[in-house]
Amino acid sequence: MRVLLVEDDVIVAQALQEASYVVDWVENGEVSLSVLASQHCDIVLLDLGLPGKDGLEVLKTISNQENPVPLLIVTARDDVNDCIRGLDRDADD
Ligand SMILES: [Mg+2]
Repeated sequence: MRVLLVEDDVIVAQALQEASYVVDWVENGEVSLSVLASQHCDIVLLDLGLPGKDGLEVLKTISNQENPVPLLIVTARDDVNDCIRGLDRDADD
């Protein structure tokens, strides 16, 4: 399984690598869209607070694509409104 981690916090990337997951890791929302345009990935793990392009904007772009890649939001934001916005933009539950 090919995982794209879009996260600007190195601790999350390290935790996945220490758990033996093989991930492609980018720290910038804009860059994540370029990566997705050029290579296959099976799932995206997406932070919301990102440089370059906010995670919800990245999610909106991905969900508007034909056959969007499955996507889970991984964020420290715990506001229920952020949760609702993510699900409204077709993040997987
Ligand atoms: Mg962040």
